[in-house]
Amino acid sequence: MKTIIKKITGNEKTDDKIIKKAADIIKRGGLVAIPTETVYGLAGSALLEDSARKIFEAKGRPSDNPLIVHIAVPEDAEKIAYPDERFYRLAREFMPGPLTVILKKKENIPTEVTGGLDTVAVRCPSNPVAHRLIEVSGHPIATPSANRSGIPSPTCAEHVIEDMDGRIDMIIDAGRCDIGLESTVVKLTDDGCMILRPGAITAEMLEKVCGNVKVAEAVTRPDAVKDSKAESPGMKYKHYSPKAEVLLVECDDKEFSEYVRTHVSPDVTEGVITTSDKAEAYDFGTENILCPDDGNDAKAFARSIFFLLREADSLGWKKIYIKCPPKDGVSLALYNRLIRSAGGNTVKP
Ligand code: AMP
Ligand code: MG
Repeated sequence: MKTIIKKITGNEKTDDKIIKKAADIIKRGGLVAIPTETVYGLAGSALLEDSARKIFEAKGRPSDNPLIVHIAVPEDAEKIAYPDERFYRLAREFMPGPLTVILKKKENIPTEVTGGLDTVAVRCPSNPVAHRLIEVSGHPIATPSANRSGIPSPTCAEHVIEDMDGRIDMIIDAGRCDIGLESTVVKLTDDGCMILRPGAITAEMLEKVCGNVKVAEAVTRPDAVKDSKAESPGMKYKHYSPKAEVLLVECDDKEFSEYVRTHVSPDVTEGVITTSDKAEAYDFGTENILCPDDGNDAKAFARSIFFLLREADSLGWKKIYIKCPPKDGVSLALYNRLIRSAGGNTVKP
């Protein structure tokens, strides 16, 4: 298949001609990779079972791993699901934005989209390209991350092209994603909500709006879902892994630099991902260091981590050392992605 690649540049942030073309593809059951504020997504109509099948095929994704359905405004949830006051309370605070809420689904959403479940995951993206595509196509869009299953999500169009060129109808390039990690996924409970996947909307932020916030065990312990039925089926699969081995080192900054200095291979096949302030402060004993390019806080690290994991692969690294992030705020999302990238490969020096 020939993939059309279109670039949106300048201050406009969206482009009506490109959106119209993409919307036509969605309406006739095709697939378009689009930027969202979290990561690049692979969009197909959520109303057409054939589109869902094509998404699973293009990604090589197990068909029981359900897709998030993206809608233009929170009220549109009524068209595909049964939202209640608890949903709207979250929506008023966090939508549009990187929050996904699980709701009981209506008949018009094919079970192919929901991996056979009677619930559907609903999100309103704030990215103008994603938003306009939903509005102009008139279809809610099923949109998982636009990568081949199992590897780090794409946060720039080049990474989508690596994975999807020739497999889908169109790719829209609108630069780097703002957040860089996928949305927070929550299930509503009687007295609040449970985080099934952490993201930029943190437990602390949710607590202010919806009362009691629990975090699913599998968020910090990937092995917790291996043998049991997963609350969120996506949690049981290998995820976010580059070709290189990832090693998470549980320690403080000084110990990390010491660990790297004594363990990293002197040749060019191993390296460190860290923030640039740490790269300056500590002698890691290696030239191979990759850092986020726009800051040293957890947000900047989250924004760049998938990009840097793929960058390490393109440099031919065989092993990546990363200091284990803390388990609060946005860092919980980083921790969740990194323990999966590492496949449980952690050490305490
Ligand atoms: P991705 O498409 O890679 O962003 O992953 C979507 C995530 O949302 C996966 O972890 C899914 O398991 C989760 N998810 C989607 N739909 C549901 C649902 N109906 N119930 C529980 N989790 C869901
Ligand atoms: Mg994904």
